Amino acid sequence: TIRVRIAPSPTGNLHIGTARTAVFNWLYAHNQEGKFVLRIEDTDLERSRSEYTENIKSGLEWLGLTWDEGPFFQTQRLDKYTAAIQTLIDRGLAYSCYCTPEELDKMRENQKAKGLAPRYDNRHRNLSSEEKAAFEAEGRKPVIRFKIDDDREIVWQDKVRGRVSWQGSDLGGDMVVARAGETEAIGQPLYNLAVVVDDIDMAITHVIRGEDHIANTAKQILLYEALGAKVPEFAHTPLILNQDGKKLSKRDGVTSIDDFRKMGFLPEALANYMTLLGWTPPDSTEEIFTLEEAATKFDLGRVNKAGAKFDWAKLDWINSQYLHKMPANELVELLIPYWQSAGYEVNLDSDRSWLESLTAMVTPNLTRLANVVEETKLLFGESVEYTDEAIEFLKQEGVDLVLQEAITAIEEADTLETADAKGIIKQVTKSQKVKKGLVMRSLRAGLTGEMHGPDLIQSWVLLNQKQLDRGRLSKALS
Ligand code: GLU
Repeated sequence: TIRVRIAPSPTGNLHIGTARTAVFNWLYAHNQEGKFVLRIEDTDLERSRSEYTENIKSGLEWLGLTWDEGPFFQTQRLDKYTAAIQTLIDRGLAYSCYCTPEELDKMRENQKAKGLAPRYDNRHRNLSSEEKAAFEAEGRKPVIRFKIDDDREIVWQDKVRGRVSWQGSDLGGDMVVARAGETEAIGQPLYNLAVVVDDIDMAITHVIRGEDHIANTAKQILLYEALGAKVPEFAHTPLILNQDGKKLSKRDGVTSIDDFRKMGFLPEALANYMTLLGWTPPDSTEEIFTLEEAATKFDLGRVNKAGAKFDWAKLDWINSQYLHKMPANELVELLIPYWQSAGYEVNLDSDRSWLESLTAMVTPNLTRLANVVEETKLLFGESVEYTDEAIEFLKQEGVDLVLQEAITAIEEADTLETADAKGIIKQVTKSQKVKKGLVMRSLRAGLTGEMHGPDLIQSWVLLNQKQLDRGRLSKALS
């Protein structure tokens, strides 16, 4: 069976790039009836935090990217890495390097001065036991390096990029697989080694990850071979780019899934959008689909090589497609936190039907959940703020009489349904001998303080249910 994985490092909140990699892995696993494994690469003890692990897990769950196995934690598997490094040493494929940081710096400076690319020159590859003993006697602690043959050409058939080849000499010299240990002979294992040991152990068949890992893949293939394991398939997905064609970063405003959630993107919409960030469905005219639907059509061969530009307008469009078809009774629950954080006292238990009607009224205007505050702000509270335009309008001749008659009509009516509101408008139009448009504008200015806004009749009905309409109109007269 096909087995894929994502291996995020818990050094920050779930990032859009990691989430998009998760989407592609999830789609491939589901398309192939395979398994999707979650592994947390937490060996960097200084930067790893358990709250980031929680954030990554909850973000994936929120997006619907459930995993079949895991999470596995690298910190619980350290023995395996040490054992693999020992195997490499025993096979003569890895060795202790005693170079100090100063020596390495100097080496690189000399290389640069000669116009060469800086690299490790493999100087400790063949130390004699006397030389080693001398370094040990000085108290030097060695890192472990894995031998990389400069003449080796590393080639693989990438599922996205086709044939990729790397020259051994371009990999920077023999690579460090373990840091220096304080007391132990083999210190903290590093990413390239640990990831290979894990992918072998977890029987990963396809490694699908960002193209920033291509050079790592070349190194990792050498490690698979050295450990006598089958090399998996690789698929390198394109980077996510901003509007300027640069890698999407914190400077572009948002990068974590939490940020998108707070802005009011629905998980289904964000997941839908992410499938399109680098993948072209076979029937590319249809762009709204669930992850399950996308999985039936997903094919690594249709993942693009070119970077995927992050397109806010498209994400907004997809989000509004999902928002607009959501029933008000569900949508209202998602809107509550936005009203609350804007300072409105909303209570779903006591006020559900009013809030649902309000939601239904503004749903067609919403692109993101957070928009609801702006779209509904005119309907909360007793006080009204008048725009200059509204103030000017309210001074117009005849407006006060229109409003006065409307107030009287409201007082006489028990309840105000849509039909009643329309009736009042008609009645006032007739008795004041003015145009209907003037009556409508007077009511809008008086009720909301603005000359534009949500549907007037519905807004009035909602304000009436809160018994806010009379007070607001009276205030407009004063
Ligand atoms: N921890 C690595 C990262 O987050 C994993 C890369 C991989 O998938 O091998 O970039």
